[in-house]
Amino acid sequence: MAPSAITPPHAHGVQQTTELTAEAVAQKIAQTAPGIAKANGLQTTPETTLAPLDASKLVFTRTKTPMTVPEPGDPIIATASQCTDHMVTAVWKAGVGWAAPELRPYGNLSLAPTASCLHYATECFEGMKMYRGWDGKLRLFRPDCNARRMLISSTRISLPGFDPKEVEKLIMALVSVDGEKWLPKSRPGTQLYLRPTMIGSAGALGVSAPKEATFFVIATFMPKLEQPKGLRLLASTDGIRAWPGGFGYAKVGANYGPTLMATRAAAERGYHQILWLLDGQVTEAGASNLFVVWRTKEGKAQVITAPLDDKIILDGVTRRSILQLARERLTDGSSGLEAVEIVERKFSMDEVHEAVKEGRVIEAFAAGTAFFVSPVSCIGYREEDLTIPMTREDSGEYAHLIKTWLMNIMYGKENHEWGVVVEEKQEL
Ligand SMILES: *Cc1c(COP(=O)(O)O)cnc(C)c1O
Repeated sequence: MAPSAITPPHAHGVQQTTELTAEAVAQKIAQTAPGIAKANGLQTTPETTLAPLDASKLVFTRTKTPMTVPEPGDPIIATASQCTDHMVTAVWKAGVGWAAPELRPYGNLSLAPTASCLHYATECFEGMKMYRGWDGKLRLFRPDCNARRMLISSTRISLPGFDPKEVEKLIMALVSVDGEKWLPKSRPGTQLYLRPTMIGSAGALGVSAPKEATFFVIATFMPKLEQPKGLRLLASTDGIRAWPGGFGYAKVGANYGPTLMATRAAAERGYHQILWLLDGQVTEAGASNLFVVWRTKEGKAQVITAPLDDKIILDGVTRRSILQLARERLTDGSSGLEAVEIVERKFSMDEVHEAVKEGRVIEAFAAGTAFFVSPVSCIGYREEDLTIPMTREDSGEYAHLIKTWLMNIMYGKENHEWGVVVEEKQEL
């Protein structure tokens, strides 16, 4: 069984109180999103006269100073700082709830120097993309998964709850307003990065749950992160990213700042990302999940990735999509490639090392929204560079096929429920 952190709590029923996070999320919803709580049969506490986040109250203000869309190859793209004309914001206050969200001109936020997020990392975020399809339509990829994961993350750091459906609608509102200009129909097959974020914005230095929070969504250009000759990973044998009882499963800012030092040191040695280990077990590569395709000693071909149940790794939308597609399409040989078994279990870097030495590793790839499906060509482990095969010039066969399937859904070549079409708004 694959327990999954992004499954909505009500899908399991509230009775499942043994699952710490599911219970915490259910309570959070009951306290701060009474609408969804009632709809799911959750007990609401007396204070639930608090206003829920409500996308239907969105107030639109169009920018008076539209920006210029950079041409492909413009150096501004590499800086990952160019955002689109608008952003969505919504403010929550303790005792009041959510104010009407706004879609307004992109611009700086104003924060007190005492704001909670600046001191105690009360910040969580999501990473997703909007895609301009080969058929001219604008799509999101499984936005419901991102909205639900954001609720898990915000709960972990005592930020307010919300109905994930409302967050999804707010993301769509920004996409539908800025999509036409910033991801034009004349550039099919392109994408823009979306960053829904929530911060503790209350100006108060006490170490406690913030009494005010600000949710926002921005859209930005991101440079291509894929490596043509494959990713070179450095297995980290001294630092760890996440630990049992911690917050590795949450997309909270506190997980990333502390990793930058190791990533930089690895870059100086010619590696692109850190492969994070915990007690020798393989967990994740940078901010992406890792898949290894190998042959067991008995000769069985397997796709293996770290499990979710110990809450060390992030429940990637790309990861879960790959697992599902692989289970549907790679296990019976109908894909044209050798059938593989799909396995979510702990596996160690020593096992990978041994498999490389015995010629049993078929390929490996990292998977996430930012890096998409990135073939791995090398893993540095204990002063040794282990070569990971890439049978095509720039990829292994499995990674190539999986990537093609996902792109077909994202860009509308395959009609699939994961590719959600967004209607474009001409006027505000
Ligand atoms: C965001 C992220 C991923 C990938 O998640 P996706 O939903 O596939 O983008 C994996 N690991 C970490 C640590 C991340 O931050």
